[in-house]
Amino acid sequence: MGGGVAGMAAACALAEAGMRVQLAERRSYLGGRASSFLHPGVGEVIDNCQHVLFGCCTNLKGFYRRIGVADRIRWTSEMTMIEPGGRRSPLGPSWLPAPLHSLPSFLASRAFTLGDKLALGRAFQGLMRPIPGDSTESLGAWLARKKQTKGALNRFWRLVIASALNADIDSISLPYAAKVIRELFMNSAEAGSMGMSTVPLGELYAGALEFLEHRGSSVLFNTRVESAAWDAAASGWTLPTSSGAVTSEFLVLALPFEAMAKLLPQMPPADGGGRLASQLQHHEHWPICSVHLWFDREITTLDHAVLLDREIHWMYNKGRLHPWRKVNGSYVELVVSAARSFAALTSAQAVAKAVGELAEFFPAVRSAHLEKGAMVKEIHATFGVSPGIDASRPTSGSPWPNCFLAGDWTATGWPSTMESAARSGHLAAEAVCRGIGEPRTFLEPDLKPRGLMRLVGAANAQSI
Ligand SMILES: Cc1cc2nc3c(=O)[nH]c(=O)nc-3n(C[C@H](O)[C@H](O)[C@H](O)COP(=O)(O)OP(=O)(O)OC[C@H]3O[C@@H](n4cnc5c(N)ncnc54)[C@H](O)[C@@H]3O)c2cc1C
Repeated sequence: MGGGVAGMAAACALAEAGMRVQLAERRSYLGGRASSFLHPGVGEVIDNCQHVLFGCCTNLKGFYRRIGVADRIRWTSEMTMIEPGGRRSPLGPSWLPAPLHSLPSFLASRAFTLGDKLALGRAFQGLMRPIPGDSTESLGAWLARKKQTKGALNRFWRLVIASALNADIDSISLPYAAKVIRELFMNSAEAGSMGMSTVPLGELYAGALEFLEHRGSSVLFNTRVESAAWDAAASGWTLPTSSGAVTSEFLVLALPFEAMAKLLPQMPPADGGGRLASQLQHHEHWPICSVHLWFDREITTLDHAVLLDREIHWMYNKGRLHPWRKVNGSYVELVVSAARSFAALTSAQAVAKAVGELAEFFPAVRSAHLEKGAMVKEIHATFGVSPGIDASRPTSGSPWPNCFLAGDWTATGWPSTMESAARSGHLAAEAVCRGIGEPRTFLEPDLKPRGLMRLVGAANAQSI
C-alpha cells in the first residue's frame, strides 16, 4: 500500500522474486513525495521539488538499476558556494585519500575565514571518533561544545548540513548529523558525489510501473486504503478501498507516518498496536519550499550552486539539467529547506523575494525578464530526526500477521530521504520472503569507507 519510493522498492523487489504484487496508490501517479506534476499556473511539468541523491544511497541506486532507470541520473562531485555579490568558492575532491580528499578546495575556499576553517577542522576531527548511536545530544549543543564560529555555523552547519536534514540544528540528533557528514564529506569522494535526475521524477518512477506490469503485477491507481481485515482461516487480508476490495496473502503498509496514524484505528486490534500509535505521535514534519523561475535569457552557466547568507539555499539550473526541455532562456529552481517562515509567503511574495535574492548572486538576473514563476510548498516534506527519534522508528515487523511496515520514517538508520524509503522497502520485501519461507536478500551493501577512513570506519559503524 502506497506508491512512493518505499512501496515501489518493496513491490519491484517482490515482483522480481516471482510474486504477483498489487501496488495500491491513492493518487493517479507513482512517486509519492518525490513526484512531478503539470503546474496549471505556469503550464509546465515540474518536480514537486528538486530531489538529489548521493553515491552512498546504495539502495536507491539498486532500485534504479532494478527498474532500468539508473542511466537517467547525472552525477557530479563539484559544488559551488556563492556569496551575495557573486564571489564563488568551488569545492570538489582531489587525489588526497579520504577524509582529506576535499581539503585543498576547502582550504582555498574564500567563503570561509581562517577562523571558520580551524573551527570546521576541529569539528571534523571530532567526527573521526565514534559518536554513541544512542546519544540524545542535538547537533546544535555539540557544535556549541566544539566552539564553532558564526561563519562555520551559518555557511556550513546551518546551510549544508541542516538543510540536508531539513531542520534547524537544535532539532537534529547528533548521530544522524554525524552519519550525513561522514557519508557526504569524509568516507570517500564516491559516497559524496551528487546525483540528479535528467528527467522529471514522474518519468523516472514510471519505470516501476513498466517493471511491475512486465512481471504480471499491477498498480491500482486512485485506490485509497481505509481499513484492513485479517481472515485467520483463509490466512489472508481483505482491504476495502475507495475502488473496490483488494485481497492479499501478505500486506506491506508503505505509507507516510500521518497516513499510517489515520489507518491504525481501522486495523484489527493487536498487541503492539498501542506502542505503534505512541511511536507515530512522536514524529513531526518539516516543510521545504521551491521557487521555479523562467527567464528570457541565461542567467548563469552553472548547473547548480549553494547560495550563502540568504533565505534561498540551493539553485538548480533545470534548463541545463533537463537538456530535453526546449527552454528559450533559462528555467531555474530555488530550494528553501526547513522553510517554516518562507512557507508563510504567498506565491507572488515568494517569487519576488527569490528573484531579488537571486540577483545578488547572478547579476544577469537584473537585466533578464522574468517570464513566469511559481512557488511549490510542501508542508509535510520530511520527518525530523530529533534527538532520541530512533525509539519512535518501528522496524518492518508490525503488530499484525503477514503484515510489514515500510516508509522513510521506519527504522532504517537514515534521515527522511529516498534512500531511507528504498531501504525500508527492501527490508519489508525481505520480511515477506522470510514469511513464505524463501529468504532473499534485497538490502544493498553500504559503500566501504576509503583511504584513512577505512581505519576508523569499522569502529564508527558500530556506534552510529
Ligand atoms: C519538497 C521535498 C524535497 C525533498 N528533497 C529530497 C532530496 O533532495 N533527496 C531525498 O533523498 N529526499 C528528499 N525528500 C524526501 C523524499 O521525498 C521522501 O523521503 C521519500 O520520497 C519518502 O518516500 P515514502 O515512500 O516513504 O513516502 P511517500 O513518498 O510519502 O509515499 C507514500 C505513498 O502512499 C500514498 N498513500 C498515502 N495514504 C494512502 C492510503 N490510505 N492508501 C493508498 N495510498 C496512500 C501516498 O499518496 C504516497 O504516494 C524531499 C521531500 C520533499 C517533499
